[in-house]
Amino acid sequence: MRAVTLPRFGGPDVFVCEEVARPVPAAHQMLVKVAACGVCGHDLLNRAGNFPHTRLPAVMGHEIAGTVVEAGPLVTRFKPGDRVAVIQRIPCGLCALCGSGRENLCSSGPGFYGEGLSGGYGEFVLASERNALLLPDSITLRAACVLSCAIGTGFHALRRAGLELGDTVVVTGASGGVGIHTIKLARLLGLRAIAVSSSKAKAAHLQDSGAAEVIVAPDLSFHKAVRDLTRGEGADAVIEVVGKPTFNSSVRSLKAGGRMVIVGNLDPGNVPLNPAMAILKEIDFLGSAHATLADLRKVVDLVVRGEIAPDIGDFVPVQEVSRAHRMMEERKVSGRVVLLHDDQQ
Ligand SMILES: [Zn+2]
Ligand SMILES: [Zn+2]
Repeated sequence: MRAVTLPRFGGPDVFVCEEVARPVPAAHQMLVKVAACGVCGHDLLNRAGNFPHTRLPAVMGHEIAGTVVEAGPLVTRFKPGDRVAVIQRIPCGLCALCGSGRENLCSSGPGFYGEGLSGGYGEFVLASERNALLLPDSITLRAACVLSCAIGTGFHALRRAGLELGDTVVVTGASGGVGIHTIKLARLLGLRAIAVSSSKAKAAHLQDSGAAEVIVAPDLSFHKAVRDLTRGEGADAVIEVVGKPTFNSSVRSLKAGGRMVIVGNLDPGNVPLNPAMAILKEIDFLGSAHATLADLRKVVDLVVRGEIAPDIGDFVPVQEVSRAHRMMEERKVSGRVVLLHDDQQ
């Protein structure tokens, strides 16, 4: 099959377009012809060599939508021709985490696309009944690829945050693919969403997307502004999409008893944390990883009902993935950048 491969870790120009072996589905798996694949912040980290499970040469891309072209004999719910979106990994379906609906944390299955598993920068991927969802006709494959990660990740994080109608939530990295959809979802939930962005040019789009307030903080210090907007109390929760650069200001944006939901880690490394702040304010620190199949199902329902629309900043032919990565790194787009395979270009 044709694929854009990562032969070595490095900058945006390391990708190579080449022919590689097509994945072979097991009896309980399907082969999916990829139509579109979102480019995630996770991909930039993977390309740079931050993930120990990635085997080179790798075919990256975990935000995938496409059409089933082969179904193994044990697959009962899908058939060739079905249009599907998938969650970011194929879980094992057997471990305690999978059994409790937390298959996003499974480490026993075939793995995460782009790391242990060939991903959507290639023409075909494997999928299974444990990670694929049949798409209604009203959702295009171009839009469907962003449902699991760019929307599902924020959906999962807001579930983890356990907020109530009228609560205030701060979203960092709000102009990016995960951030902008988290703002839209927060609005849907009846939350007051305070968007934090480093770019003034993106503020109007954030307001149009449902942000009650936008804090433009090029210096990544925004906790004073959050306090000013909350009668000095702070926010009920922060959805931390950026990670290290905004972490300190995010913690200081929380009210006593607030929740810090850590979703993104765009600049890997340790963060300083004064334990006294966590103790005296009884801050809950929660991690949130990707999305489950149940999250994806609910996101699809929301999109079908017109409650939320995917925010895609640009479409790029998959062969031009280096350009897409540069656009992401230079923060030139709001929302997601989506790679299109040949039949969608
Ligand atoms: Zn992603
Ligand atoms: Zn499992």
